[in-house]
Amino acid sequence: MTVETADPGLDTFRAETRAWLEANCPPEMRTPARSEDDVCWGGRKGDYSAAQMTWLQRMGERGWTVPTWPKEYGGGGLSNAQAKVLAQEMSALGCRSPHSNFGIWMLGPALLKFGSEEQKREHLPKIARGEIRWCQGYSEPNSGSDLASLQTRAEDRGDHFIVNGQKIWTSYADRADWIFCLVRTDPTAKKHEGISFVLFDMASAGVTTKPIRLISGKSPFCETFFDNVRVEKHNLVGQINRGWDVAKYLLGHERAMIGGTGSADIARPLGEVIAGLVGTDAQGRIADPLLRARVAEFEVDEAAFRLTMARFGDLMRAGQAHPAYPSALKYYGSELNKRRYELLVAAGGSDTLEWDSDRSKHGATIRAWLRTKANSIEGGTSEVQLGIIAKRILELPGA
Ligand SMILES: Cc1cc2nc3c(=O)[nH]c(=O)nc-3n(C[C@H](O)[C@H](O)[C@H](O)COP(=O)(O)OP(=O)(O)OC[C@H]3O[C@@H](n4cnc5c(N)ncnc54)[C@H](O)[C@@H]3O)c2cc1C
Repeated sequence: MTVETADPGLDTFRAETRAWLEANCPPEMRTPARSEDDVCWGGRKGDYSAAQMTWLQRMGERGWTVPTWPKEYGGGGLSNAQAKVLAQEMSALGCRSPHSNFGIWMLGPALLKFGSEEQKREHLPKIARGEIRWCQGYSEPNSGSDLASLQTRAEDRGDHFIVNGQKIWTSYADRADWIFCLVRTDPTAKKHEGISFVLFDMASAGVTTKPIRLISGKSPFCETFFDNVRVEKHNLVGQINRGWDVAKYLLGHERAMIGGTGSADIARPLGEVIAGLVGTDAQGRIADPLLRARVAEFEVDEAAFRLTMARFGDLMRAGQAHPAYPSALKYYGSELNKRRYELLVAAGGSDTLEWDSDRSKHGATIRAWLRTKANSIEGGTSEVQLGIIAKRILELPGA
């Protein structure tokens, strides 16, 4: 599909971008990832294919892994309009994202807003080039929804802190290189006011991880322990005891990112996939009328959500987005993604339930269906998002 733009400069940019992508995106990177294991996360511990590494390196050199970040921090320095064109052209060619990284979606935006110049120059280019993989140390065994009650302590020792405590549900902690972590620096202050936001290397002495194994046999997250971990003061982001400001800002980005799962997989509309599973009638429609109605309802909601996400992106880049709006996107997007997989499982019937056969592609759909159940928990539960929407967007009175 050719998209015309009013700005002739943008048309030239589009043509150049298309030509560059065609010349530089390896054919293997023009197919969707086969599973979660087929996604490139970058980092020091990665084991990726030659095509994944080539694609990451080429996009990283151009700054197009983070197209709108400033060039001096490893970004592409593109305008919002150019970044949109790049995304459209990548989608048209079926190009994968060169890498996934919590640094791109979460830490990077927080560093751009709260980081010192030294921190930006140190960490952002490594995120852009996929050299360092980040994990998120927020949740603790007794602090999930009530995150501000966290107890991991950081004691001030002059030029450094000594960190002790435990995190839980730390996604990919065993595969990450560095962690962005919330620690309590003033135990006497009110709970939101004694927290700081620090960065440290997961290879530091005193950091250990214990994978949490799930029923699927996979271990997407860990318990993470800190035993007298030394963290240099220059790795404190923002002000001491004001880490909650950084944490909240970062959570907004995390929630918008998770909400994005609601409009994922747009390369192939759900109706087309389901028609392939259950067959079509003489008019080429999904044969089962009840399923057809549910899929139609889903596709309309998905299209509306995709436009809402795009509108939010524009508002955010213009600095006009309501700060609590990511909660609405997170709530709706994660519920929508769960609906998508409910429909896929319903359409696939008993074949889908096969856990480990070639016919079920080794349970790809059922495993993905199970994974979607976590969408409405990770990054803050749906109930908590509804509470935020009620209070901060709808301004309803508290209970
Ligand atoms: C796949 C996955 C990946 C994750 N990755 C990370 C990670 O990388 N780093 C990290 O730090 N954390 C991570 N988490 C943790 C996640 O942020 C927490 O699970 C989440 O915030 C909920 O906290 P909790 O599990 O302690 O549940 P709880 O807070 O104990 O909640 C239990 C139940 O009570 C409800 N509830 C609690 N408070 C309220 C309220 N005020 N109003 C209404 N209902 C309420 C909740 O909705 C939920 O149903 C991950 C979780 C998952 C599932």
